[in-house]
Order: sequence, then structure tokens, then C-alpha cells
Amino acid sequence: MFIERRINQSNGNVELWKCQWENVEGQPARKVYLSKICDEQPIDKDAEGGLKEEAAICWSYGRTLGNIAVTSPALLGHFPEKSGNDAQLPCDFAHAGKFRNGAERLWCRTHQTHWGIKADIEALGIHGDMRCANYQQPMNYVVSPLTVNVTEHAEVGIWCSMPAALASSPIAPRPPKIHVHVRNDIGAKKQIDRDFNAISTLYSSGQGLFHNQEITRVNITPPAAYDFVRAIEANKEMSCISCSSCGYPHLDLADFADTPHRKHFCGNCGRDSTWSKVPIISTPLKPLHDSFARTLKYETPDRTLNLDDYASCDFAVWASTPAIVWTAERPQEFGIHVHVQNAEGRIVDDTFGEVIYQGAPLERSALISAMMARTVV
Ligand SMILES: [Zn+2]
Ligand SMILES: [Zn+2]
Ligand SMILES: [Zn+2]
Ligand SMILES: [Zn+2]
Repeated sequence: MFIERRINQSNGNVELWKCQWENVEGQPARKVYLSKICDEQPIDKDAEGGLKEEAAICWSYGRTLGNIAVTSPALLGHFPEKSGNDAQLPCDFAHAGKFRNGAERLWCRTHQTHWGIKADIEALGIHGDMRCANYQQPMNYVVSPLTVNVTEHAEVGIWCSMPAALASSPIAPRPPKIHVHVRNDIGAKKQIDRDFNAISTLYSSGQGLFHNQEITRVNITPPAAYDFVRAIEANKEMSCISCSSCGYPHLDLADFADTPHRKHFCGNCGRDSTWSKVPIISTPLKPLHDSFARTLKYETPDRTLNLDDYASCDFAVWASTPAIVWTAERPQEFGIHVHVQNAEGRIVDDTFGEVIYQGAPLERSALISAMMARTVV
């Protein structure tokens, strides 16, 4: 048995059919259409039993691709809680050309893998529906994520939050989070100042960050945020290329975010026909970062802190990292961020140009390495 695509003449839909060759002696082999599996993009959301459409962001670790530039906040899936790591999402197939042996090849956008090898067709026979090899993989998710309209506030700052570099108590390794500052008036108190598991950013479509004008949202997921900061820290060539087949802005992750490359494999349509002029790491976070930055200047504060003066207090130290989004007119502060607290509460919460610990100044590069070493991706 094999799978063929077939156009339904009555409605123009592309359908997927189980087929087989019929060999009658003395006659040319004849292709027989056995049964229809489904329409190529079965997005009849009401028909999906037990699944709900929710405003949600999903991601998984260990992938080299992802989709973070989206046209709609809604996703179809089964989300047990407000956030977690065990969402089940249905496959969402797009046609992705043919395998070398000529068999039809599909691409699951949800689980980021091809469909159409022998094992997939066997599984179709068993389950009666098309499931990709990664179908069972639970995904990380946030339902109803914080949505920040970056053009609607006086100042927006968004960073990849990592575990502390140094602290008075043991530092637990953890996945990256997204740290958000929002001010509605310059110099006023922050409306938002905390970590989130993932957020969505929105901007008015007139600004056109991408070739595809329908995209007005970029989801900031932990793997995308982390790889963006790693690439900036390592001074690697970043840009954002759109897929030559489907037009989607391309996201490189993990190994592909380590090494700039020219040939890009699309996470939306599963084709690899997109070439950049020069080797790049592609991420939709780059145009997001560049378009809303009023300044790209960094400023090292001339403040110094001697942690040895607070020997009896609890403390935690981070190197500040470049923001993913920074819309303020003033330069970003670049230095070492310190929290100190005593029995009454926090007594230091500031960024310093120099921090002395055990008699010697702390090195920013060593702090960054310690933070990344404790970041679980
Ligand atoms: Zn799938
Ligand atoms: Zn903060
Ligand atoms: Zn594509
Ligand atoms: Zn790429």
C-alpha cells in the first residue's frame, strides 16, 4: 500500500488516499484508490473529539526547528492545566514533496517530523488515522499567555531569564524563562516585572516585520529566547529568512542555532529549498529585536558594590544579558545584577559596573558561563 494525493473535482480539496497497484497479467499495472484517509489539511476543529481550541503557546526542547511567528493565538490540543509539560496536540500535516523513492511525503507541523515511510503507513493501518512518529511526545505549554503589545507601552523590556550565577544558597538548575518589564509612563513604576514560562508579543501589522503580512504575533518561547541570547553573546550572524516555499519566517534552534548555515529546513512546510546569501542563524526574534529598538546602545553603570560588606546577608548575582526586546529611549544597562536581602527583606536590587566578591572583582564572562551551565534545555 502507498499514499497518493488526489484532487476532489467536486470541491477542489486535496485528499490523501490509500492506494495499491493492481497487476493483471498481460496488462499494464493499474493504480487502485482503496480508501480516502483525510483531506490534506484537516482543520475542521469542531470535528476533533476531546480537543479544544485555546489561546496557547507550545514548545519542546531538543528540536532544531520551531514555529514562533504566528497569525493566530489559537492552538488545537488537550491542555490539562494552565501550564505544564504534558500537552497532547494533534498532528497537522502539510505536503512536503516526495521521498527519494517517489512516495508522497508529508510534514507534521506540530511535532516537526516527516510522515510517509513504511512504518507510518503501517501505523495508519492499525490506528485508522494519520499519526506522525512524534505523535505521543508531550509538549510544554502555556494557556492564555501574557500578550504584550510592544507598541502600546512607554517602555517594554524582555529578556531570557536564567538561573543565578552565584548565590549564598544552592542554585537549582531550571529551564529558561521570559522576564518582562512593562512601564506605561517613562520613569514610572513598572506595571509588570516578573518571569513567565512563555509570552506572546503583538504589534500592529502596518509595521510588517515579515514578508507574510498576516503575521502580527511572535511567541517568545524558552528555547527561542535562550538561543537568541547565546547567539548574541557569541557574536554570531543572525537574521531572519522566510521559507521560499511557504513564506514562513524560519527559526533555527539548538545545533542549528550554534552554527550559521545557508540551507534552511522549514519547520512549517518541511521543505529545504531555502538558501540564505550568507551563512546565518535565522530567528523571528531578530526582526522583533531590531524593529522596536530605539537605541542599541549599552551602558555600564559606574556603580560598584562590595558583596563582602554584606557577609551576613543572602545574595544572588546575575550577569545582565542583552534584551530580546527593548523599546526605551535610554540605553540598556549592562553589568552585574545583584539582589541582597537581610531578615527584613531586600536591601539591594540593582545593576553594577563592578561587583567585588571575596576580595576580587567578578568577571562577567564567568558569570554568563555559570548561568548557561545551569540552564536546562
Ligand atoms: Zn505529528
Ligand atoms: Zn525585573
Ligand atoms: Zn516552508
Ligand atoms: Zn536554518
